[in-house]
Amino acid sequence: MATQTESRALTPTTDRGPASWGLGEGQAIPWEYAPAPEARDLVRLRDRYGLFIGGREVEATGGGTFASVDPSTEQSLAVVARGTPADVDRAVRSARRAQPRWAGLRGKERAKYLFRIARILQERSRELAVLESMDSGKPIKESRDVDLPLVAAHFWYYAGWADKLEYAFPGRVARPIGVAGQIIPWNFPLLMLAWKIAPALAAGDTVVLKPASTTPLTALLFADVCRQAELPAGVVNIVTGPGEIGAHLAHHRGIDKVAFTGSTEVGRTIARAVAGTDKALTLELGGKAANIVFEDAALDQAVEGIVNGIYFNQGEVCCAGSRLLVQESVADVVIDKLKDRLATLRVGDPLDKNTDVGAINSKAQLEKITELVAAGVDEGAELYQPACELPERGWFFRPTLFTNVAQSHRIAREEIFGPVLSVLTFRTPDEAVEKANNTAYGLSAGVWTEKGSRILEMARRLKAGVVWANTFNRFDPTSPFGGYKESGYGREGGLHGLLAYVRLEDR
Ligand code: NDP
Repeated sequence: MATQTESRALTPTTDRGPASWGLGEGQAIPWEYAPAPEARDLVRLRDRYGLFIGGREVEATGGGTFASVDPSTEQSLAVVARGTPADVDRAVRSARRAQPRWAGLRGKERAKYLFRIARILQERSRELAVLESMDSGKPIKESRDVDLPLVAAHFWYYAGWADKLEYAFPGRVARPIGVAGQIIPWNFPLLMLAWKIAPALAAGDTVVLKPASTTPLTALLFADVCRQAELPAGVVNIVTGPGEIGAHLAHHRGIDKVAFTGSTEVGRTIARAVAGTDKALTLELGGKAANIVFEDAALDQAVEGIVNGIYFNQGEVCCAGSRLLVQESVADVVIDKLKDRLATLRVGDPLDKNTDVGAINSKAQLEKITELVAAGVDEGAELYQPACELPERGWFFRPTLFTNVAQSHRIAREEIFGPVLSVLTFRTPDEAVEKANNTAYGLSAGVWTEKGSRILEMARRLKAGVVWANTFNRFDPTSPFGGYKESGYGREGGLHGLLAYVRLEDR
């Protein structure tokens, strides 16, 4: 077993300069950050939340509940209604009743609601960002600066399409699909809600949404946003509860479309449930993206992109750049730079504005990451982790880097969904393409090179839905996102994302 842990205790003993810090000549003095916690009381959390059906908050049939837990403290944040199949039936009936009238509104009237929702999301973005970080464990600087701006941007963007459907698909008439059943995961709870609800509403569809059971709270705050926007009752319905609720929704005869984001395993069961019906289906599943660094790349910039690619949102990202493919001639330099950069990442309280890596979403996910990292060590890869201190409570995992990784290792093949990077090397562009495509997934990839022609050539040959060049993890509501192979099918975002919520007819 080969392990290596960086152990730099960079605490000054005196204020007499670099030598007293245990640093060599020319090395920078490290600065510690004082805690800068965002205020938790920006959110007025209630003790208990119901389901959102027909524009009203209602109890679950049978009155069951479950707790939503803060992964950084392991404390319950609130108690949430445990929906049952009967509640899914109620929600689908409510969405069905509301749909003809919603679709019958003129496009510019539907747009007004979407614009209003977008504006309220922006007005309440601090509150929503804090709750997102409390419920999911993601750092506040990400929920505040990435998730929430993108959430509002999706509503702004699709609001713009609502009154332009007749121009969206030239020569075709776009009709609403009807009622959409939408099942979302815990890694970007509010953003996945926005990706799904905004295009559906613009198209004239109504929805029943099932959030992940570890992160239901921002969806329930979104229900409040819908009420504030005076969205007609039944257009958006939210049923919280366990995975079986999602299964019941996917099988439901009263829905016309299923949109799912989550694991490939559950995606398969949903594809089976929908097969043979006339339901439309989009699946956004797992990934094992290659982030490819050529020797001519701007290496410092690439290192930032690699760090963003895999440690953003604790690596709990379907398109995370979890496999680094680095050209052999620069591998040592890149790995050294990466280790130095890892030592500066701050792991801890998600609500601290200086935190880079927050809490892992659940105990189960932490166990999965721990198990796969142990498998990497057992299979002979070399593990590196910076010596950062982890909080005593909560589910945290050190940013992790594996070198000496073989293609056959589990850490190179399986989606870890954690802050774990596997480094492989290549000599030629052909070898890079071969290794990058040697995966069951095909969601995203990154290419780092100064050569424009190489970027275009690589983008053509990489079997991935999104290929980023000299950047990583960039999202925009106008740009379609989705995968190939076991990463699913269908696209979200942009005009392609709208297409997933309409039926096209000849004029
Ligand atoms: P799941 O696929 O189980 O969960 C995603 C959503 O589907 C949740 O709302 C979940 O509900 C719901 N669900 C669970 N079972 C069913 C079912 N049989 N039919 C319909 N819906 C269902 O992901 P996990 O949370 O279990 O995570 C496991 C792994 O999946 C991760 O380690 C990661 O590798 C991958 N993953 C990928 C994501 C992506 O963005 N592509 C997102 C999340 C996970 P509930 O939460 O109540 O179980």
